[in-house]
Amino acid sequence: MKSHSTDRINTVAILGGGPVASTLATLLARTGRKVGIWHRPRRAPLLVGESLVPAIIPMLRSLGVEEEVRSFSTLKPGATFNLSEQVSFSFFFAQLSGGMPRYAYNVPRDRFDDALVEGARKAGAKVYESAAKVERVPGTDRVRLSDETIEATDGFFSQPPDLIVDATGRVRVLPELLGIPSRRGARQDTALFAHVDKTMLDHAGHVHTTRIDHGWSWRIPLPERVSVGMVLGAEHLAKFGASKEERFDNLLRQDSVLRELAGDANRLTPVMEYTNYQLVSSRVAGPGWALVGDTAGFIDPVFSSGLFIGMHSAFALADTILDGTARAFCRYELEVIHHLDTWHEIVGYFYDGRLFTCFRVGQMLHDHLLVRLSFPHINKHMGRIFSGAASTSPYSLALLRFAMKHGMKDEDPRELMIR
Ligand SMILES: Cc1cc2nc3c(=O)[nH]c(=O)nc-3n(C[C@H](O)[C@H](O)[C@H](O)COP(=O)(O)OP(=O)(O)OC[C@H]3O[C@@H](n4cnc5c(N)ncnc54)[C@H](O)[C@@H]3O)c2cc1C
Repeated sequence: MKSHSTDRINTVAILGGGPVASTLATLLARTGRKVGIWHRPRRAPLLVGESLVPAIIPMLRSLGVEEEVRSFSTLKPGATFNLSEQVSFSFFFAQLSGGMPRYAYNVPRDRFDDALVEGARKAGAKVYESAAKVERVPGTDRVRLSDETIEATDGFFSQPPDLIVDATGRVRVLPELLGIPSRRGARQDTALFAHVDKTMLDHAGHVHTTRIDHGWSWRIPLPERVSVGMVLGAEHLAKFGASKEERFDNLLRQDSVLRELAGDANRLTPVMEYTNYQLVSSRVAGPGWALVGDTAGFIDPVFSSGLFIGMHSAFALADTILDGTARAFCRYELEVIHHLDTWHEIVGYFYDGRLFTCFRVGQMLHDHLLVRLSFPHINKHMGRIFSGAASTSPYSLALLRFAMKHGMKDEDPRELMIR
C-alpha cells in the first residue's frame, strides 16, 4: 500500500455508495484509475439531503447527470426564511451574480443517489453491492481490505488498492477502526422528518426555513409531496409523545407555527430521526487512506449545505489523488476542515439571531445613504455565500463578519435566535 508518496495512485477502493462516493468514483474512473465502490444497499425508507444549492449545479453538469436529475426533481428558484409573523425574507437565485446558475433542485434522494452511482458505473467504476471488510494493520494507523474482499472482486483488484477512501457518511468506518476523534458542535439537536401530502408555501419550489416554538422546521417541496423536518433540542421532544411518529404528528398539530402551515397535512411516510450530527473529524487523511463527505464532517441541515460541502470535497480529493503527493493530501485535509469550520461559523449566525437581525436592520434603514450604498453589495455577497458560490471566498466572508459585528444597530439579535 502506498503512503501518499509521489507514486501515482492507480487503484482506489471507495467505501459507501452515496452521492459523494459516486462523485469521486466518476471523476477518478474517467482518468483511467481503477475504482471499486463497496456500497451497502440502503435500508432506510427516506434519506435527508433533499434540497440542493446552486453551486451543486456545475458539479452535476460536470458529472453528466444534470438532465436526469432535472427529470425527477422540483425546480428550486430560491429560499424563504420565516423568523416570526413580522419577519420573513425570500432570496431568489435569479439575483445571483457571477457565473453561478440561478436555480437549484429539490431532489428525491433515492433517485438522486441512484443517478450518481449509475454515472460512476458508466464511467467505469465497479460497484459491489456489499460492505467491504476493512482491517487495521496492527500497531499502525494504516488499513487494508481483507483478503476475502479482494478475492471477491474476481480479479478486478489483484493487489491491495493504493488508497482506501471512506465515504460511508455518518457510519464512519475508518474513524471507528482507527479511533480518530472528532470535534462535536455545540448543538445537540434532534431532527425528525417525513413526507406529507401538502403544506402552505410562500413561493413555489422554495425551501422554507421557519422558526417554530422550539427550534426550526424545513419544508422542501418535492414532486407530489413536501418534505417536512423539525429540528429541536432533545429536551423538548418528550412532551410530544413516546415514539418518533407520535412526536412528529403532535408537533405538526400542536406547535403554534406548524399547525398554521401544515396542521391538516397527512403524513405519507414513516418518520426518520437524526441526532447529534454536528461533527468534524480531527484527521481527514493518513497513510493509504482518506475521508470524504459526511465522514470527514457534517455541520448542520440549515442552508442545505451538506451535499455541496460533501461533493466539493469529492472534487478536491479527486485532484489530490491525481497529484498523489503527501503535500497534496496535507492541503486537502486543511481545506476540508477549514471549509467545515467556515460553515460552522455561518450557521452559528442563524442560530444566534444575528444573521436575520442584520437583514432586518438593512430593510429598516433602507433610506439611509450609507445603507443604500453598502447593503446591495453586502447582500450580493451574502447570497453568494449561502448559494455555496463564495463559501470559500475570504472577501465575502470578511464582509459577512463585518455585517455580523456592526450590523445590529440597536436591535437585540436574541429576538430572532432559535429557541
Ligand atoms: C437532518 C439533516 C438534514 C439534511 N438536509 C440536507 C439538505 O437539505 N441538503 C443538503 O445538501 N444536505 C442535507 N443534509 C446533509 C446530507 O444528507 C449529507 O451531507 C449527504 O448525504 C452526504 O453525502 P455522503 O455521500 O457523504 O453520505 P451519505 O449520503 O450518508 O452516503 C453514505 C452511503 O454509504 C453507505 N454505507 C454506510 N455504511 C457503509 C458500509 N459499511 N459499507 C458500504 N456502504 C456503507 C450508506 O448506505 C450510504 O448510501 C442533511 C443532513 C441532516 C442530518
